[in-house]
Amino acid sequence: MYDVVVIGGGPSGAIAAEDLAKAGHKVALLDKAGRIKPCGGAIPPRLIADFDIPDDQIVAKISTARMISPTGRAVDIPIENGFVGMVDRGPFDEYLRKRAAAAGAVRVTGQFLRIERGDTTAVAYRGRDGSEAYLPTRLVIGADGARSRVAKSEVPGGSEIPYVIAYHEIIAAPGSEDGGPAPQTPGGILARMKGYDPGRCDVIYDGSVSPDFYGWVFPHGSQASVGMGTGIDGIDLKAATAALRAAAGLTECETIRREGAPIPLKPLDRWDNGRDVILAGDAAGVVAPSSGEGIYYAMVGGRVAATAAQAALVSGRSKDLALARKLFMREHKTVFRVLRTMQDAYYRSDERRERFVSLCHDVDVQRLTFEAYMNKKLVRARPMAHLKIGVKNMAHLLRLVPETYA
Ligand SMILES: Cc1cc2nc3c(=O)[nH]c(=O)nc-3n(C[C@H](O)[C@H](O)[C@H](O)COP(=O)(O)OP(=O)(O)OC[C@H]3O[C@@H](n4cnc5c(N)ncnc54)[C@H](O)[C@@H]3O)c2cc1C
Repeated sequence: MYDVVVIGGGPSGAIAAEDLAKAGHKVALLDKAGRIKPCGGAIPPRLIADFDIPDDQIVAKISTARMISPTGRAVDIPIENGFVGMVDRGPFDEYLRKRAAAAGAVRVTGQFLRIERGDTTAVAYRGRDGSEAYLPTRLVIGADGARSRVAKSEVPGGSEIPYVIAYHEIIAAPGSEDGGPAPQTPGGILARMKGYDPGRCDVIYDGSVSPDFYGWVFPHGSQASVGMGTGIDGIDLKAATAALRAAAGLTECETIRREGAPIPLKPLDRWDNGRDVILAGDAAGVVAPSSGEGIYYAMVGGRVAATAAQAALVSGRSKDLALARKLFMREHKTVFRVLRTMQDAYYRSDERRERFVSLCHDVDVQRLTFEAYMNKKLVRARPMAHLKIGVKNMAHLLRLVPETYA
């Protein structure tokens, strides 16, 4: 009998299993294995610090973020006092799973099927040999990613999470052995990208790339991730990504993988079933609006799910499972609300996107947003800067200033 079976060995499940095993609980980590999670792999310093990520997992260190507007204007945001790290999800996720196992979690490979309840609760899964097997347990953490089977079958609202579909291509980076020479003069709407820089992330706000989200070029050392997301049906994601690659001068680079996956847009109102299941990470719908950042929040989600599970195991009260969402929201609710408002306001037309990139010129906007991204804190020390940003924001939304006004 396990204390907790964690379903899903991505960042959220691996952290939940590691924390529980370290606390002395009997834990199984069930993962179906065999597929690298499609992901841009950008992580903030706060994640690296909070979850002790070693330097050898960071395949690139990014020092500039470039925001590109529909008319091709580019705003470079220098990343002060640190860097944005890039991880490759194949080795990164495996590293986290191994860490959970080293702490004492039992790794099980198989596909989750259902939760069965009789005298005891058991997680039914299909093993590698095709046969069904069972993991008897007191509690379950569902960390099986977007479109979670655990969420759908166990938690109210679990099948109704809205998504954008994100698609990207992993390519050999220009200048690397397989990537060919660096592009000379990219043309088209992205002329301002001014070529590929292995230390710079490009974020492209342009309706022709994505009418409701954004496109990106993220360097990963010898590789790069180029992609876009959208929640609108009927958009050809492959064609949009091909156009983005062409505009960035990256068509000739060898394509290593083509892959897509949903990104949840809204955290569920409930993360537990009031009995014996808690959700974590994408399964709970927890990805930051505007940016689509999910790795850090998945790992925090795994951690708070482990805390809530421990509380419930000790007290015997299933209502303690609700602690997971409470702890998470206490820390991150405001940032999620601000990012949601930004996405609703600025991602709806090219005119609004142009204004958004204009807003990014402002040094106070840069400091505030990057502090929120890098360290997951809204800086409260500069009330006048907040006021100024608020006024500028309103001025742009009410069209009181021209689109290109910084
Ligand atoms: C194209 C794309 C780009 C992205 N870029 C970024 C980025 O740059 N930075 C960022 O922070 N976030 C990014 N995200 C979001 C990020 O990838 C996710 O938010 C994050 O992976 C969520 O982690 P998780 O552990 O909750 O779920 P996942 O990483 O999806 O892990 C779920 C795990 O569950 C397992 N599983 C699923 N079903 C079953 C089953 N039935 N039985 C057993 N195991 C199962 C899977 O094998 C997997 O290991 C991106 C997402 C996409 C799609």
